[in-house]
Amino acid sequence: MDFALSEEQTLIFDMAKGFGEEHIAPHAQKWETEGTIPKELWPQIAELGLGGIYVSEEYGGSGLSRLDATLVFEALAMACPSVGSFLSIHNMCGGMIDKFGSEETKQKWLPDLCSMNKVFSYCLTEPGSGSDAAALKTRAERDNEGYVLNGTKAFISGGSYSDAYVCMVRTGEDGPKGISTVVVEDGADGLSFGALEKKMGWLSQPTSQVQFDDCKVPADNLIGEEGKGFSYAMAGLDGGRLNISAGALGGAQKALDLTVQYMSERKAFGKSINQFQALQFRLAEYETKLQAARTFLRQAAWKLDNGDHDATKFCAMAKLMVTDVAFDVANGCLQLHGGYGYLADYGIEKIVRDLRVHQILEGTNEIMRLIISRQMISA
Ligand SMILES: Cc1cc2nc3c(=O)[nH]c(=O)nc-3n(C[C@H](O)[C@H](O)[C@H](O)COP(=O)(O)OP(=O)(O)OC[C@H]3O[C@@H](n4cnc5c(N)ncnc54)[C@H](O)[C@@H]3O)c2cc1C
Repeated sequence: MDFALSEEQTLIFDMAKGFGEEHIAPHAQKWETEGTIPKELWPQIAELGLGGIYVSEEYGGSGLSRLDATLVFEALAMACPSVGSFLSIHNMCGGMIDKFGSEETKQKWLPDLCSMNKVFSYCLTEPGSGSDAAALKTRAERDNEGYVLNGTKAFISGGSYSDAYVCMVRTGEDGPKGISTVVVEDGADGLSFGALEKKMGWLSQPTSQVQFDDCKVPADNLIGEEGKGFSYAMAGLDGGRLNISAGALGGAQKALDLTVQYMSERKAFGKSINQFQALQFRLAEYETKLQAARTFLRQAAWKLDNGDHDATKFCAMAKLMVTDVAFDVANGCLQLHGGYGYLADYGIEKIVRDLRVHQILEGTNEIMRLIISRQMISA
């Protein structure tokens, strides 16, 4: 058993961290205010090999492991959890197409996905089905040319912004076995978007409903086989949950680093506040929690990379544990900043707002408990 990162993994982390510090962090607040991430950022990120992190190299990807990906997303979130998470969703789509798509499908989508000439969104949630995703209602009827879609997807990160949407749609019976996955390109006939959602965090990402009104999609936009879309979506989420956890961890680590610095500068009652033992103990507690979360997250990623039978359970446990710990630490760091933690200039309140949604999406933390306990009971 070796807990150390390899030299290559250390380089991956440092590269992503360096990129974030130079190209993301200085603009993160401005992008929040503007409610969008400039599209020019993406090809720059893709040049580092981060457009298709675990897509095979023959289609333009980097062919890295899930563990490597957690390093990337931890590092990028130190600059901005919202930007890092957006990239994570795009990569989740890439992973699904690479793993389940036919040769032609991969040739068709992956080169543009990896170069980020096309940005991808993931569309599972609907207004009437979130946690109970298998109850989705968007229908895709087969005709001579392809599929005709009708329905609405809700909360879509990148809605009205992305170039392509990986959509879970109903092609058959009720329940998970009637679901298929199709790619809908921006500009498709019958595709439209709801108004941009007003949110608590992740403000730089546009979020909206994605609507299909007799939306026509060519037959070869189907990913893999009809009726298997739900299992593809769930497989995508195993890795997605690791990334969402890594993003939470990176955000919390940044908050803690800022707090250690701040506490050495801020004085109260004639001394630096880092001289109060009650506060020192809080730092110790936060450091311990984040290190434990990091170790657990990397173990879950290692299990997914190795195809362990309990990898899904570990991904769910990591998501539950890491995102809860990360939010608590970031929130505690805000408290340690006093009133200044509440001000945008100190960089903490944005992290707290951004990390809150990590406990909700890609399966709420209640649903993580459901996945974990079901597996325990069935075993
Ligand atoms: C900013 C943001 C971005 C998002 N981006 C995307 C995206 O890009 N693509 C996408 O497909 N989705 C996206 N989502 C949707 C997200 O995944 C869902 O909001 C989430 O899965 C929860 O679904 P829901 O909101 O319908 O809540 P509900 O399913 O209605 O749940 C309500 C509450 O009930 C709890 N609950 C539900 N069922 C159970 C149960 N069986 N046992 C115990 N508790 C239960 C939930 O945990 C929650 O607390 C995004 C959401 C947000 C907020």
